[in-house]
Amino acid sequence: MSYMAQRVQHYGTTIFTEMTNLANEYGAVNLGQGFPNFAAPEFVKEAARAAISADINQYPPAIGRSRLRHALAAKYARHYNMELDPASQIVAMHGATECLFATIQSLVDPGDEVIIFEPYFDTYVPCVEFAGGTPVYYTLEAPKWEIEPDKLAALFSDKTKLILINTPHNPTGKLFSRAELQMIADLCQQYDVIAISDEVYEHIVFDEAQHIPIATLPGMADRTVTISSIGKSFSVTGWKVGWAIGSAEICTAIFRSHQWITFAGAAPLEEASAAALEWADETGYYAQLQAMYQRKRDTLLSALNEANLPVITPAGTYFAMVDISELGFANDRDFCTYLTKEIGVTPIPPSFFYTTPNAGTDLARFAFCKTDEALAEAADRLQKLGSSSC
Ligand code: PMP
Ligand code: GLN
Repeated sequence: MSYMAQRVQHYGTTIFTEMTNLANEYGAVNLGQGFPNFAAPEFVKEAARAAISADINQYPPAIGRSRLRHALAAKYARHYNMELDPASQIVAMHGATECLFATIQSLVDPGDEVIIFEPYFDTYVPCVEFAGGTPVYYTLEAPKWEIEPDKLAALFSDKTKLILINTPHNPTGKLFSRAELQMIADLCQQYDVIAISDEVYEHIVFDEAQHIPIATLPGMADRTVTISSIGKSFSVTGWKVGWAIGSAEICTAIFRSHQWITFAGAAPLEEASAAALEWADETGYYAQLQAMYQRKRDTLLSALNEANLPVITPAGTYFAMVDISELGFANDRDFCTYLTKEIGVTPIPPSFFYTTPNAGTDLARFAFCKTDEALAEAADRLQKLGSSSC
């Protein structure tokens, strides 16, 4: 007899774990799982050491340490002109992952519909299923990933409770345009729907593009939950410090779940995150981060081009999608396995980010949040592709 609850029986191991294990087994350069394999800024690491030494080691307030909530209010005011009350409109949690889970558990009732753009970041669907909601999908089509107004409007009804957006978007690298966000905002207001906006890659955008939080559009401040975290912006994905921002009413609802999931975050890391956010704005750090990722993106794009892999240029995030439809593989998993075992470079098969059968099987996602040495080694190995028979 299986002891596993029915709720989890149909979930396998995540594709990130599976591909990282395969990369390790074959000694491949891991351009699969999206985590920086280089050091976090010294200031940020020192802030964590200092917080532990200062004995900030007991439970923080359940909504997050005061310094962190104040640093976030200052950041959102400075970058996005958003006015937030640190006492009632910000809840710090255990990474964007818990923010998504707690928010969805707190807003979705059984039978409610949640609109999700596919491909999606893999936690979205289980979050909705755990709450008893029904995911409804809008499939973004390569290579432009644009949203068609009529197709999106057709998904809205009086059953729709939430729409989940992610900009900059993992895995496509799409940045939602102001016109697209306006279209979503209009539909949210017409159907009384709340937008959850996952913005964890907010500081990784390219070519002068601008990240726009949907909460800043007219009428959206009180019907948006903006979610972000410290992991991508400061190269500390293992810290798992995240935050959800919304109206006081919605934050009260989110808190009701959060108090039963983890109750509170990790105190010294919340303190160090506050220090990191303050430091970033004092030193112009985000511009440096952006310049570093612009360089890494361009290195990967050249390597893929030289290996004759047709790449779709990402506007944000640290991922790039490649069109593998003409390469003669049965599907994305076969391609990613071949590349790992025979070429020594590991991408992620994106079909795992789709619910529609066979969608995404003609794509592969490459991460470039890796050292220059790792990217150069991957470029070298990819050269073999041209000369090998697939
Ligand atoms: N959303 C997206 C789109 C992501 O790529 C990630 C990265 N894991 C997360 C959320 C989770 O963020 P965190 O590590 O802060 O939980
Ligand atoms: N966000 C990262 C990615 O998309 C990894 C997430 C994870 O390992 N769960 O690759």
